[in-house]
Amino acid sequence: MISVEEALERILAQITPLSATKLPLPESLGHVLTEDVISQEDIPPFANSAMDGFALLSQDSQPRDGQSPRLRVTGGVAAGYVADHAVEPGTAIRIMTGAPVPPGADTVIQVELTRSDGPESEWVEIMQEVAPGNNIRPAGEDMHRGQTVLLHGTEIGPWEIGILATLGWTHVPVIRRPRVAILGTGDEVIDVHEPLQPGKIRNSNSYLLEAAVRKAGAEPQRLGVARDTVESLREKFSEAIQCDLIITSGGVSVGEFDLVKNIMTEQGEIHFWRINMRPGKPVAFGHIGAVPLLGLPGNPVSAAVTFELFGRPVIRKMLGHTHLLHPQADVAVEDGVSERVMRRHYVRAHVEWRDGRLIAHTTGNQGSNIMTSLLNANALLIVPEGGTVIQPGGTAKAIMLDWPEVKS
Ligand code: AMP
Ligand code: MG
Repeated sequence: MISVEEALERILAQITPLSATKLPLPESLGHVLTEDVISQEDIPPFANSAMDGFALLSQDSQPRDGQSPRLRVTGGVAAGYVADHAVEPGTAIRIMTGAPVPPGADTVIQVELTRSDGPESEWVEIMQEVAPGNNIRPAGEDMHRGQTVLLHGTEIGPWEIGILATLGWTHVPVIRRPRVAILGTGDEVIDVHEPLQPGKIRNSNSYLLEAAVRKAGAEPQRLGVARDTVESLREKFSEAIQCDLIITSGGVSVGEFDLVKNIMTEQGEIHFWRINMRPGKPVAFGHIGAVPLLGLPGNPVSAAVTFELFGRPVIRKMLGHTHLLHPQADVAVEDGVSERVMRRHYVRAHVEWRDGRLIAHTTGNQGSNIMTSLLNANALLIVPEGGTVIQPGGTAKAIMLDWPEVKS
């Protein structure tokens, strides 16, 4: 039986990022860039006004004999247009935010610091002296031509999409999404729409894992449930090897019908199949042909927890991420953990931000078959190996699955 750390290290050593593809800009959200993004233009492309006001020569704003200077207004320029004449000494051009600064002008005064005869006024009084460059956003102020704006390896979020749009990238080079085959196993497992029969249970794992795989950024492919026969498993695996990763649940323990390991040996290899943890000791990792296979336990809580610890990092590595793991935080465990477990224990907990601290509450019965212990859990408390207990109010490291949101 190996430790969680060793298991993760051995799994990740076998995983490499997938190939690059080009995706339309809107579809690149969440993907990892495979090339640096270098600006081919100055952004903004032209000097423009930061305010609604008047473009003028700064020297014309100096008071004369204690009087505000009065300038002749020769026209106006709105955003999206260019002025058809220059600003001459003694004149001004009305200008809107985002409009190009007309030739001749070296400054803009905002409308609030002027007096005029309304929007059509042929004159404007300059109530305050303005320095050159006032309210002018120079060309290239944000990004300049030749500048590396985004590095390969960057995860694309909405803000990066905004940058790519302003630079004119209609398609983005990114690592493609892994396709992940999800396979249930077990003669007792029936599909969600089927009526319960004696001895049968519904397939919760495949649906839970499908959602978790999608949330991790991959494309799940649910392949149904293999019967507890070598033939049925073989048939399902022949389909599953079309994918980049196979995730199974159940059938990796020590029972007579735990045949997933047999198929792995028959069609590939097993690297290991037991981890010193609870929930989720029976986790198998190996290959079917060249496709990595993560065999998760059948108990739903075990499948859910081991996916977070091993499946998600695998998917993130395939996607080209370099940061693979959920963050950890020190939390105060208000109710404590009294059950002594010799293996590393991952206790489902709800963590909230209260009085400037992260406070955890465990989610009740921690049996690996108790699906409701997952409800409301946004963290996994890490209780060390060797029968450690945590006193009420004691601290623990927690894997933060979702950082708690706070009320508005
Ligand atoms: P196994 O490892 O196949 O012996 O499964 C362990 C436990 O998980 C058994 O109680 C199974 O009935 C249950 N189980 C296996 N697969 C699923 C599934 N897809 N959905 C819900 N429970 C399952
Ligand atoms: Mg089974």
